[in-house]
Amino acid sequence: MFEALIRTIPDHPQPGIQFRDITTLLQDKQGFAAAIDALAQAYAGHQFDKVVAMEARGFIIGAALAVRLGAGFVPARKPGKLPWATISQAYQLEYGSDALEVHEDAIAPGERILLVDDLIATGGTALAAVALVRQLGGVVEQAAFVINLPELGGMQQLASAGVHGFALCQFS
Ligand code: IMP
Repeated sequence: MFEALIRTIPDHPQPGIQFRDITTLLQDKQGFAAAIDALAQAYAGHQFDKVVAMEARGFIIGAALAVRLGAGFVPARKPGKLPWATISQAYQLEYGSDALEVHEDAIAPGERILLVDDLIATGGTALAAVALVRQLGGVVEQAAFVINLPELGGMQQLASAGVHGFALCQFS
């Protein structure tokens, strides 16, 4: 059902890419609520200290879910955006590389973390977030996404890193 509320934009941001756009889901009041409900339901019975979400669309889903789950919220941001001391983790993109940062006091050792992003493709972004959490001594319990692109193998990459991932829907 969530697939129907997600817009696909051909050849964005470059030729050959089918961009999956969640803004059409977010602007639908029933759809957005249903997505957060479904994710909260998936983690009923779990205890998380914090949600760690990836800039920028991950913040929208992650913040709403953190409130529902009674967890704190930690933004994982692009380099240079956070105002306090940070730790950083680089990761590979199809062309070039990027990095994610979190504040060095954002996670205490032993805290139970739920990772959240809008979409998992190759898993490179999610694995960078896993590395940041682990660098601070946190425990990545689960990872949640609105969309999985199974052909790109990100869920398997996460599983190889010992993290179980879940997505509300998928596109092939
Ligand atoms: P990965 O690192 O290859 O798993 O790519 C996932 C990251 O790229 C996430 O942070 C997504 O927000 C972003 N991303 C990749 N493809 C899309 C897309 O089609 N729609 C929205 N975000 C995307």
